[in-house]
Amino acid sequence: MRAYLDYNATTPVDSAVLEAMLPFLADNFGNASSIHSSGQRSRAAVDRARGSVAKLLGAKPSEIVFTSGGTESDNLAIFGLTAAVAAKAAGARKHIITTAIEHHAVLNSCQELQRQGIDVTFVSVRSSGVVDPEDIRRALRSETILISVMHANNELGTIQPIEEIGCIAAEADVYFHSDAVQSAGKLALDVNQLGVDLLSISAHKIYGPKGVGALYVRTGIPLAPQSHGGHHERDRRRGTENVPGIVGLGKAAELAIENLQTDSEPISSLRDRLERSVLDLVPSAKVNGDTSRRLPNTSNLSFEAAGGEAMLIALDLLGVECATGAACSSGAVEPSHVLLAIGLSPDQARSSLRFSLGRQTTDEEINHAIAKIPEVIARLRALSPRSGAMVTAR
Ligand code: PLP
Repeated sequence: MRAYLDYNATTPVDSAVLEAMLPFLADNFGNASSIHSSGQRSRAAVDRARGSVAKLLGAKPSEIVFTSGGTESDNLAIFGLTAAVAAKAAGARKHIITTAIEHHAVLNSCQELQRQGIDVTFVSVRSSGVVDPEDIRRALRSETILISVMHANNELGTIQPIEEIGCIAAEADVYFHSDAVQSAGKLALDVNQLGVDLLSISAHKIYGPKGVGALYVRTGIPLAPQSHGGHHERDRRRGTENVPGIVGLGKAAELAIENLQTDSEPISSLRDRLERSVLDLVPSAKVNGDTSRRLPNTSNLSFEAAGGEAMLIALDLLGVECATGAACSSGAVEPSHVLLAIGLSPDQARSSLRFSLGRQTTDEEINHAIAKIPEVIARLRALSPRSGAMVTAR
């Protein structure tokens, strides 16, 4: 028995997505920029997918730029916007606001801009893992050009007050980007309601293929392309389009729209059962992050005196797949920057696991996880030199 509880890292490709993609990996191989019939078939498929992604986001098709995934979308938003503003106001001081719990695709992009001489404020978040919009307001300066705040956190699942921050950005006349890689397909997304100018999504988090994503760019928002070549994607992202991937993203977007209402409840009730059982069965286990503003599929739990990497490996051997820290940085020994940012000690952060469920998660998988997690933690705690202190402190 295997329980795959790592949907925030990636999701399986839906069979309908695979079916939609296959013709474009075989007979329909034309380059979407070619004038002939094969090319036009690919162009039509790319246009259809653009329409589906636009519909998912409440955007216009012309506002969708296909990319190689969430990381590139975040990079294009942050570097593209900053470069375009810099080109208009050369020499003027520039400032960006983001938060301490962003994905590394945003954090490291902002750190790179800092090295290039742009001021960046990394706003801290409350211990609940939610940013206070007033802290964003307080960080504003006359030279602020961009606010970038993620919609839902990949580790905690906490949902940020994007609409409120959108209002603050609009009042201050500052551009606003949101990384919605984890919220797409799990929460209703409407770029106008959220008040964002730029928004990133990724196909492989919504039952689509890896290596393809999109950036929503509101009409009229300045964006300097970050690659040079032909005139693809209206000069905003150059390079021959990944037609099968884009078709897959389009189909995944259609399924996300169809399943949005029905996915959430069964997934959250499985997540809640897992969480309640583990909290009952494992002494001093705790939930990290606000449970009232959370994605329906995510549970991040701390277990004192049981190392995350050891728990992960032991659980994997027993058929339970989950994550420690951000999946993208798994393998790195540093504790999760998100858990440190909400006030956990390095030891507590290292002793935390993320369980993330999805459309295919079954009752049996949850039963299996509930049976194995307490067993593994008890075994590791028995070996831990800190376990005695933990038991007496309880
Ligand atoms: N942003 C968030 C919040 C993510 O969770 C991830 C991936 O885990 C990314 C961006 C990067 O997306 P991709 O894997 O498509 O590059």
